[in-house]
Formats: sequence, C-alpha cells, structure tokens
Amino acid sequence: MLLAIAVILPTVCLLWFMTQAVKNERLAVRQKLIGIYKNRLETSAREKLSDDWISLNTSTPSTDGFLVFDSNNELSYPVVELDETVSSDDTFDLASKLEYRENDPNKAMAEYRRIAENADSNSLRISADISRARCLRKLNRIDEAISHLRAVISKYDDSDKYVRVHKCRARLLLLELCRQTNDDDFLKELSDTFDYAAAGMATDNDMVFLGRKSHTDKYIPSSLQIFMLNRFIDYAGDMKETASITKKIKRAHRLIEIADTSLMLSNRYTEPSFAVNKGIFRLDTTEQFYGKKARMGGDLHLMAFKQEDMVNWFAGYLEDIKQLPAACAIYDDKGRFIAGSQVAGRKPFIKAPLPSGYFPGWYVELYIDGTAFEKAARAQVTAYVFAAGLVIVLMLILTGFGGSLIARQARLNKLKNDFIATVTHELKTPLSSMRVLVDTLLEGNYSDQQQATEYLQLISKENLRLSRLIDNFLTFSRMERNKQAFDIVKTDPSEIAKAAADAVQTKFNRDNCQFSVKIDDNLPSAMADKDAIVTVLVNLLDNAYKYSHGDKRIELKVFSENNAVCFSVADNGIGMTGRQAKKIFDRFYQADSSLSRQAEGTGLGLSIVKFIVEAHKGRIDVESKPGKGSKFRLFLPVLRG
Ligand code: ADP
Repeated sequence: MLLAIAVILPTVCLLWFMTQAVKNERLAVRQKLIGIYKNRLETSAREKLSDDWISLNTSTPSTDGFLVFDSNNELSYPVVELDETVSSDDTFDLASKLEYRENDPNKAMAEYRRIAENADSNSLRISADISRARCLRKLNRIDEAISHLRAVISKYDDSDKYVRVHKCRARLLLLELCRQTNDDDFLKELSDTFDYAAAGMATDNDMVFLGRKSHTDKYIPSSLQIFMLNRFIDYAGDMKETASITKKIKRAHRLIEIADTSLMLSNRYTEPSFAVNKGIFRLDTTEQFYGKKARMGGDLHLMAFKQEDMVNWFAGYLEDIKQLPAACAIYDDKGRFIAGSQVAGRKPFIKAPLPSGYFPGWYVELYIDGTAFEKAARAQVTAYVFAAGLVIVLMLILTGFGGSLIARQARLNKLKNDFIATVTHELKTPLSSMRVLVDTLLEGNYSDQQQATEYLQLISKENLRLSRLIDNFLTFSRMERNKQAFDIVKTDPSEIAKAAADAVQTKFNRDNCQFSVKIDDNLPSAMADKDAIVTVLVNLLDNAYKYSHGDKRIELKVFSENNAVCFSVADNGIGMTGRQAKKIFDRFYQADSSLSRQAEGTGLGLSIVKFIVEAHKGRIDVESKPGKGSKFRLFLPVLRG
C-alpha cells in the first residue's frame, strides 16, 4: 500500500508538472513565434511600405480622383461649375440679336469687334472675339476664322478661370474648323486641345498628383474637361494611329475617369472635414475608395485610390510576408478585408496593427497553419514526455526492486520462524523418546537383557534420526548462506546407488518392506559430488518409506538414458495430487502440514534435493498418483568423450 502510494503520488505529481511544462512550452513557443512573426511584419513594412513607397513618385500608381481645397477651404479642383461665364452686357445682347435673329453675320461681326476692343473684362472680350470667328464661319470665311481663333487663343492669358473656359470654346471651334478644312495643322490643334484639357493634371510619365504642386491656375470645369477629352478621343480615333496618339487617347480615358471620380468626391466632401492624419483611410463613399490627405503649399489635397490600387500596393508587402508559413490578410481602418488571403472560420494567430504609420487603424491578421505551430512545439514536448516516461519507468523499476526486496525480507522472516518452529518440533520428538528410554534403563525398569538391548536399539534409531535431521538442517542452513561447495568429480553412479541403499538398508529390511535395487551394467561415469548425491537418494528413499503404509514396495533403479544417468526411486505409497507434486520442492512445503500428521519431517528434504541437483546441472521430476504411489527420477549429466 505504502509502496503504491510512493509510486502513484510522485507519478501524478510528475504528470501534472509535465502537463504544466508542456503547456508552458506551448505558450513559450507561441510567444516566440509571435515575436518572430511580428518582427517579420515590421521589417517587411519598413522595406515595402516605406516613405519611398508611399511618396508616390512616378513608379507608384496614380490617384483615381482628387480634391484640392485652397487656403480658404474653397474647392479649387474639381471645378464644378462657374457661376457665370459671360457677364450680361447690352452691346453683347445687340450683337447676338444681329447674329441670330437678324441673321446678319457682317453686322454682328462689327458689333463683336467693337466689344472685343472696348469691353472691360477679358472674359467679355474673348467671348466677343470667339463670336467674331463664328460669324466669319457663317460667312464661309473659314481660313480667316481659323487664323482669327489662333490669334485669340494666344492673345489671352490663362490666369483668369473664365478666360480659360472661353479658350476651351475657342479651341473646340478651331478644332472643328481645322477638321472641316483638312487643315495641315489639325493634328497639332488636336494635341493642343488635349494638353489644354489635361493642364495641371498630367505629368510626363503618368498621372500622378500626390506630392506635386497643385495647378489651381490651370483647371477648367470638370464637365468641360470631360467634354473636351471626349471630343479629343472621337477625333483622335479617326486619325492614323501613332504611338503618341495612342498614348494620349489612353490618358484621355484615364483623365475622364479621374474627373468623374473627383466630381463624385466633391459631392461627398464639400469641405476639408476629412482631415484625419497622414495615413490612408477608407473614404465615406458608396464605391470603395481610400483617401490620403496631403498639404501642398497652402492647399489641402485629398487623393482617392480604388481598392484594387491598394491591393496592388500591398503586393510587395504580402510577397515578403509569404516567407512565413502563415496566411496573411490585411484589413482597413473600417475592418474591411483588403488584400492577402483570409482563412474563414479560423482564429488568427496574430492580429496586429499594420506596422506602418501610413495606415492608422489598419491591421494584419496572420493565420498560422496549425501543424507548423504544432511541429515547433512537438519536438520540445516529445523531449519532456520522454524524460517523464523515463523517470516513471525508473521509478517503477526502483519500486519493483524495493518491493521485491521487502517481499524477500518478509519471506525470509517467515522462513526463519517456520524453521525455528519445525526444528523445535522435530527435535523434540526423538529427544523425548530417547529420554524416556534412557530413564527407563537407568531406573532398571526392564525385565531382561534382550529388552534392554531393544531399548538401546530404539535409542540408537532415534539418535540416527536425530543425526539425519541435524544433517539436513545444517545442509539447509549452509545452502541458505550459499556456502555449500560441491566437489564435483567423475563418479561411478553404481557406487552412489549402493552407498545410498546401504544407508537405508537396515531400516527398510526391518518392517514389512520390500526394497529392491537394480543397477544397470556398464553405466557411464557421471559428474557428481558423491556424498551430496547419496544425500539426495537417501532423502528420496526416506520419503518413499515415510509416505508408504502397509506393504511397502520401494525400488531404486539406476540406468542410462539420453546422455544422462537416471536414478529412479519408486514407491507404492500414498502418492500426491498434481498440485501438490508441483510444490513439494519448495522449502517447508508439506502436503499434509498439520503437526499431528503421521510422518515426521521438516519440509526441507526435497528443497535440499533440488538445490543439490541444480548445482550438478541435473534435473529431477516426479510422477505420482494419490493412493497409487510416486516415482522420483533424478538425471545427472554424464562425462562426455
Ligand atoms: P518432509 O520432511 O515433510 O518429508 P520433504 O521436502 O522431504 O519434507 O517432502 C515434502 C513433502 O512432499 C512431504 O511432506 C510429502 O507431503 C511429499 N512427499 C515427498 N515424497 C513423497 C512420496 N514419496 N510420496 C508421497 N508424498 C511425498
């Protein structure tokens, strides 16, 4: 019980410690991995989402739309609509009347000229000049109209936004006239029209606005810009394809798109209230756009990017993170998935802010492949389990060892007690009968000399029995201390058999006992300690005598069989059951162990026999049936060669 507790308690403790250690290890590995992964996220962000990357130089994608607010928080791009392009003027009304109602271009033209020369505002003058060109056209003086329009375009300065609108009109008219007349300069005019419509919006390589100066002095109303660009696309489409035309058509499409988006943005953001911080944030628009604000000069810009742009931007970053065995997903500041690969239904291993100042509120989620994490932890856990297993096995072995030591000690104690009890009991009987006999003789209580001799013979018999008993005890005691040394030499088996037969002869011949000895001729020599084997045979013969009643028939045979010499002792006694026969070679075993039993004995004889036989590398077996008798066979190895 104590031993069991001694094992179970530490085992349970050990297992508990182990599970704790395993848990801790998992946690530690997890923590370590988180550290490594976060580090990777940061280095990748430093490299791939750096200032260089974000400053939108020519290699970064262009904005998809933008707003520009000037220092007075007025929207300067896109130009939504101008309040009034032509200020109403009586003289202008008159000219228009002449032109349209009276259908007199000549008179109207003269009136327009007058306005162009005398009007106060540039916008009124340019408007009149354009009207003059229109009248020239009506008079079919196309060439004059063309050269007049060219002169008008170069005459007026662009700084006035109203003038810019009129210049657009002049250009559109000029373009149409040139087209009609197949003017040699049509291509140039077409190109100029594009440039004018795109003014302030296109750079040499691409349309990139972030980080650039805004061109509030060049913008024209977006609807007009879109119209001009569409006209350009129409006309350019009819032209012979050249690289520069194709490039410009592409740009025109893109600019229209930007203008559209910008108009859409201007509806949503009427004042610069979007001013958050320097980062990129989700725009509050129905379509998915991301914004970034930038201050340039006194202007505040809001640039808008489509979600695809963002996805493209993150490509490099995601590629870098791919080195980690984890799936990575990027979410915007409104918690919307943007790029990477989402893992549905799995808890992210890491959810961390996107480590870049440009993405406030954005975050990255890393989904680790369970097995990768397990793999990392498993090696350590295996080591723990192995160590714990080893300790438990060691503990079990030690406990088993301790247990067997204790059991052995207990058995020895029992043996000692049994031994003392048996010795006392066995010595008492012959000693007391001898004392009675000696007392009788001393007191002279015998009738004649023959009776005295009989008594003396009885005393001698008891004495002999006593000697044998003591011999057995001594052998056993030596055997216990492992001190029995045998002198195993080449011996003649028949001599052993004869010596044993002599030792029991007198006793056996006395009562109604038939004792026969059969020794084969030409027996091979055996390797044996003669005295020891005689002790064995005497013990077997004694038992045969002791455990047979009535007409005893005892037979000692010696013969050779299978490279061994066999001594067989058979009787017709009480025999034993199979179960008893299995135990008789154990120390102190007696089939009938009651102290009142008939035959005297200690239960030691056969254990001594077995010990001696084994020391000779021999073998002993028994065949027995209750009531029929027993047959013991002892085999001794013969000398070879
Ligand atoms: P003991 O001193 O009791 O004879 P042994 O070791 O010589 O001790 O024998 C052990 C037991 O084996 C005996 O008590 C007896 O029950 C049984 N036994 C031994 N030899 C015989 C035999 N020839 N016939 C029946 N039983 C025997």
